[in-house]
Amino acid sequence: MNEIWNREYETMSREELRELQYKRLQMSLRWAYDNVPFYRERWERERVKPQDVKSLDDLWKIPFTTKSDFRSAYPYGLFAVPLERVVRIHSSTGTTSRPVVVGYTRGDLNTWAELCARVVTAGGARPQDVAQVAFGYGLQTGAFGMHAGLERIGASVIPASTGNTRRQLTIMRDYKSTVLVCTPSYAMYIAEAAGDLGFDLDDLSLRIGLFGAEAWTNKVREELEKRLDISASDNYGLSELMGPGMSGECIMKDGLHINEDHFLVEVVDPATGEGVPEGKEGELVFTSLTNEALPVARFRTGDLSSVSYRPCACGRTFARHAKVYARTDDMIVVRGTNVFPSQVEEVLMEIEGVEPHFQVILDRKGALDEMVVQIEVEPSFFPDAMRRLVEFERHVEDRLQEELGVRARVKLVEPKTVPRHTGKARRVIDRR
Ligand SMILES: [Zn+2]
Repeated sequence: MNEIWNREYETMSREELRELQYKRLQMSLRWAYDNVPFYRERWERERVKPQDVKSLDDLWKIPFTTKSDFRSAYPYGLFAVPLERVVRIHSSTGTTSRPVVVGYTRGDLNTWAELCARVVTAGGARPQDVAQVAFGYGLQTGAFGMHAGLERIGASVIPASTGNTRRQLTIMRDYKSTVLVCTPSYAMYIAEAAGDLGFDLDDLSLRIGLFGAEAWTNKVREELEKRLDISASDNYGLSELMGPGMSGECIMKDGLHINEDHFLVEVVDPATGEGVPEGKEGELVFTSLTNEALPVARFRTGDLSSVSYRPCACGRTFARHAKVYARTDDMIVVRGTNVFPSQVEEVLMEIEGVEPHFQVILDRKGALDEMVVQIEVEPSFFPDAMRRLVEFERHVEDRLQEELGVRARVKLVEPKTVPRHTGKARRVIDRR
């Protein structure tokens, strides 16, 4: 079960790795400085030059890059190469603001496929697998990255794209898909919808789930593994730096190995930007080491996690970051208290009878925030006594209050009325 795609790099000694990282960092900073006016101007303003970074420990001297820098540079302002060298362009959908636009040279696409090959191998995919990719094939990076990685290891890739769950299930059953690639919330939806659409989950050949592109908890993992009879692993990546392939879980499922020969990781205090010690939670910051079209220095991800350099039983020497449960972007403030949707999920999944679908609705009643959590229960869970329903709602409210430190109103809704998503789930509706 434990296989490593690129032993030479994935198991190199920490010492060799740090040497390689420093060499690549110098080249990458120089590349950005020489070819991207944005970096040159900003670093000059801060009176720092690439040669001032004399070791990996000097990286803090370089200013952060943020999502808003990408937006200001829209569309091509951060590219370090002319468009004639760019062979692929992806972007966010940008429904609320200017999209983030990213470009890849031929070399970048090659690296991307290599890193995704490592991640899918770590997650358990093999050449004999039939892999159904149910991410959207469009502007976003998820589908194309995982597709390239699976193809590289020699799996048979089915570009199913998202939506049309009946067709997904037909393909899954008839083509005997063994690997499912999508968001965990879509996997959950597929598992749930199968019965209604006339499919028997026992007729499927699935054995592996490679899930990513949204935060999900270990409770959801257990549920997906049970319902779909698979081993489910998490993988992570950001479009700004590359897309999927930046990190992924191995069979130990105890953190995601970062492809550190291509990305340098830091963990900083989100408020001060100062580095935090190993194992402490903070915001993940990544620096690309080999990107050609789009070198990125110290990108603030908004994702909260911690990093461990402890050796892993799988044999990989790359550091691991903890599963990302929370994005600073996802955080909601309810009556002055910080709340993450993942905390709500964690509580709900512990309560027997609650389905893994929920929605948080925020409203303002006078001067006060009101938070309503809509949940569904398994249809068989209740006899019909209304009194018990009310008791159950109070029970969930109490559990949420213990965990979140703020009172929410819980509302049981009819089964299958909480919206389902084929891509990323929308957990929070903020009407304030
Ligand atoms: Zn490992």
